[in-house]
Amino acid sequence: MFDPTTRDIKYLPGVGPGRATLLGKELGIYSLHDLLYYFPYKFVDRSRVYRIHEIEVGMPVIQLRGEIIGFEATGQGRKRRLVAHFSDGTGVVDLVWFQSIKYVTGRYQLHKTYLVLGKPTLYGGRINLAHPDLDEATDAKPSGVGLQPHYHTTEKMKRNFLSSHAVEKMMQHVVQLLTEPLPETLPAGMIARHHLMPLTQALCNAHFPSDHEALRKAQYRLKFEELFYLQLNILRYAKERQRKYRGYLFAHVGIRFNTFYHSNLPFPLTGAQKRVLKEIRRDVGSGRQMNRLLQGDVGSGKTLVALMSMLMALDNGYQACLMAPTEILAAQHYETIGTLLHDMDVPVALLTGSVRGKRREAILKGLLTGEIPLLVGTHAVIEETVQFASLGMVVIDEQHRFGVAQRARLWSKNTQPPHVLVMTATPIPRTLAMTLYGDLDVSVIDELPPGRRPVVTLHQYDAHRTSLYRMLHRQLAEGRQIYVVYPLIKESEKIDLKNLEEGYARMAEEFTECRICMVHGRMKAAQKEEQMQLFVSGQAQMMVATTVIEVGVNVPNATVMVIENAERFGLSQLHQLRGRVGRGAEQSYCILVTNFKLAEETRKRLDILVQTNDGFEIAEADLRLRGPGDLEGTQQSGVAFDLRIANLAHDGQLLQYVRDIAREVVESDPTGELPEHQLLWRQLKVLRKNHANWGAIS
Ligand code: ADP
Ligand code: MG
Repeated sequence: MFDPTTRDIKYLPGVGPGRATLLGKELGIYSLHDLLYYFPYKFVDRSRVYRIHEIEVGMPVIQLRGEIIGFEATGQGRKRRLVAHFSDGTGVVDLVWFQSIKYVTGRYQLHKTYLVLGKPTLYGGRINLAHPDLDEATDAKPSGVGLQPHYHTTEKMKRNFLSSHAVEKMMQHVVQLLTEPLPETLPAGMIARHHLMPLTQALCNAHFPSDHEALRKAQYRLKFEELFYLQLNILRYAKERQRKYRGYLFAHVGIRFNTFYHSNLPFPLTGAQKRVLKEIRRDVGSGRQMNRLLQGDVGSGKTLVALMSMLMALDNGYQACLMAPTEILAAQHYETIGTLLHDMDVPVALLTGSVRGKRREAILKGLLTGEIPLLVGTHAVIEETVQFASLGMVVIDEQHRFGVAQRARLWSKNTQPPHVLVMTATPIPRTLAMTLYGDLDVSVIDELPPGRRPVVTLHQYDAHRTSLYRMLHRQLAEGRQIYVVYPLIKESEKIDLKNLEEGYARMAEEFTECRICMVHGRMKAAQKEEQMQLFVSGQAQMMVATTVIEVGVNVPNATVMVIENAERFGLSQLHQLRGRVGRGAEQSYCILVTNFKLAEETRKRLDILVQTNDGFEIAEADLRLRGPGDLEGTQQSGVAFDLRIANLAHDGQLLQYVRDIAREVVESDPTGELPEHQLLWRQLKVLRKNHANWGAIS
C-alpha cells in the first residue's frame, strides 16, 4: 500500500527547502506524516460572527466581519505598534500589532472585507484585538461546523510567516492527499471491540472535524492508540524481564517477623501500613521478583514497613539491606531500626562512605559470611567490594535520587535479583507513576498515624517580616527549632549563595538568642554533615539552608519551616519541605514568604498549599498547573513526554483503561506469537525506533 505521508515535507505546495528546514528545526516535522501528527491545541468556533456593538469585555476569542478604515503607526523601537481601525458599520475596534509590522502593512488592505478573529480587551478606553487573525471574507471557509484548528508555532516560525494559519493551510493540502486510507496501525479486532474510528478518518477529523462528535471520536481514537502503545511498550519489557529472572520465594512468615509484631511494635499499625505489608507479602511469596514502589506522604510510617519487609527476608534465610540517599539519613535509619529491634537478636550494621579501615573490613566479612543479616547504608552499599552471602531484599528510601541504572547494579550482586522495594515521599500521580515506573507495581500509604496535628501553613509577604520574626522569637523561647530555606537554582548559583549568606547575616542579627547553623550544596560533604549534626543534636536552634535539607532529616523538635522566595519552588518541593516539620507533639507551622507582586498562577500554587496537606492532591494540582515535564523526578527518569495528543493530566482514566488492554495482550501472548498481534509488535518496533526515550523506560 502506498503511503503518501512518507514524503518529505518540502514537496508540499508552498513549503520548499527554507520552510522545511524551519519546520524540522522548530517542531521536528520532516515528513508529511510528522505534520499530520502535529495536532491543533485548540479549535475556535467560526460559526458565529459578532457585531462590534455586541462586544463586551471578558469575551473569549470572537469573530468579526468588516473592513479596515485606516492604519496608524505609533511609538519607536520596542514601543512601536501598528493599529488598524476596523469597522463593521455598528462600531469601530482597533486591531493592534506589536510585531511583524512590516508584514501586516504589506498584506492587509484598506476597504477590503475581512473576517477577523481575536480576543477583545479594553485599552485606553477602546476595544482592542491584539495580534488578530485576518482572512479575506471570501477565502475563509471554515469546516462544516465552523471549528477552526489552531496550531502552536514558535517565535522563529512566526517571524518567517509560519503562523498557525499557514500550518492550517499546509494541513489542508496533506489531508487532500489522503484519497486512500493509510495503513491501519491497530488490529481490526481491537478497532471493532473498542468502537474506534479508523485511522485515516481520525487523522482528518482531528484537524478538520465534520462535526463536534466526529472531533471527539477522532481525538479519542488517537489518544487511545498513543497511550496504548506507551503502556504496551512498558508492560512488554517488564514481562520479558520477569520471564528471564525468577524471584526468591519467601515461603513463610517466621519467628523474627512474629516476635517483632507481637512484642516490639511500639504502636498499632495503621490500616494503610497493614494493607501495604500484605501486598509485599503476596509479592515475595509468589516466586516472582518483586519490584514495588511504595508511595507515602512524609511521616506516613514507611520505615516500619521497610523494616518488617526486611524481617520477612531474614525469616527465610536471606539478608536484607536498606539504602538511604545521605549519610545522615542512613545513620538515622540505623538508629531507629536498632531501637525498634531491641531485645531481638538481629545484628544490624551501618555502612557508609565514612566507615573505613578495620570497621569496614569487619562489616564486609560479616556480609559475606551472612553473620550480618541486616545492612543499612548509603550508595556505598552498591560498590563492587560489597558482597553478600544471599541478598534477598533491598529497600531504597527516597528513590528520586537513585536511578534505574543504579537499581540494576544491585542485581549484579546475585545470580538472581533480590526483591526491590522503592520508597518515595514525593507522591507521583498514578497516571504518571504508570508511565514513569511502569515496570514497578505501586503501593500507597494514604493514611497518617493517628494523633498527628496537621502543619498550619501561612502565606506572608516579605514586607511583613516584623510579625514573622515575633512569632519565631516566641517559638525559640519555647525551646523549639526553626528551618529557614532559600531556593537554589543551578543557573544562578552565585546569586543564590549570596541570597543565602545575606539571609544568614540578617537572621544572625535579629536572633541573637540562638545558635544558627548553615548548610548549602556547595559545602564539602564533611562540613555539611557537621552543620546538619549541630541542628539534629539541638546544639543549633536555627538552620539556614538551601534545599539540601529536602530529603528526610528527622528533627521532631523543629516546629517552624520558613521558606523564603517560596514563589520560586515547585508545589511538590514546597510540600516536601513542609514535611520536615510536624513530626513531634507540638503544633508546627510552615511560612511561605513571597513578594507582594505575584503571577496569578503562582498565587494559585501557594493557595493550594495553604489549603491542603494531602500530598497526592498537591501532586495532581502540580501536574495540572505545570505539566508532567516539570514534575520532580521526571527529568532524571529519561522519559521526555513526547505525547502528541494525549495528556497525562487529563486522560488518566483512558490511560488506566488502555493499560488493562495492553496487559491482556501481554498476558495472553507473552512471547508475541499470536497472528492477531503481529501488527502490534511491528508497530511497537517502529515506535521504539522513533522515540529514543522508549527504550529507557524499562
Ligand atoms: P516516613 O514515611 O516519612 O519515612 P517515618 O517512617 O519516619 O515516616 O515515620 C514517621 C513517624 O511516625 C515516626 O516517628 C514513626 O515512629 C511514627 N509512626 C510510624 N508508624 C506509626 C503508627 N502506626 N502509629 C503511630 N506512629 C507511627
Ligand atoms: Mg522516611
